[in-house]
Amino acid sequence: MPHHRATSAWRYWSKVAFDGPIPLVRGVTGRCHVWTRATNEKGYGTFWLGRTVKAYRYGYELAFGPIPAGLDVDHRCRNRACVRPSHLRAVTHRVNLLASTNHAALRAAQTHCMRGHAFDAENTIRAKNNTRKCRTCKRAADRAARTTTPERTAA
Ligand SMILES: [Zn+2]
Ligand SMILES: [Zn+2]
Repeated sequence: MPHHRATSAWRYWSKVAFDGPIPLVRGVTGRCHVWTRATNEKGYGTFWLGRTVKAYRYGYELAFGPIPAGLDVDHRCRNRACVRPSHLRAVTHRVNLLASTNHAALRAAQTHCMRGHAFDAENTIRAKNNTRKCRTCKRAADRAARTTTPERTAA
């Protein structure tokens, strides 16, 4: 079957949540648009297009056309799950590497989780590797897991 670009674009945007967090990066405006489906081991969204492609790279191409040869697509907002075209830019590999060295520091400064919940004292779980987990998201995941397992009888 021939590849139908309009259908692919519709299928693509149906997998995006437009109410993501507001990035703390100077010059990057608006909320992140967060990929809600499969991600790879590095946290980048993946999209099936006859083969697996990186969601943010495809999003960039839908908005701006083909990525120039030899360039990487960089997340200006430092949110790997984000696919918002205005948060993306095509850069040389060297610039992309330099930007990602600041990533850890920015992540530490982030006030909200990927889904936009505040990292305040009540909502933050400190993991052993010094990363933070969102309690609201964890609770939702636990609840989802519980509803798929048989009900326990109350003591
Ligand atoms: Zn973003
Ligand atoms: Zn959360």
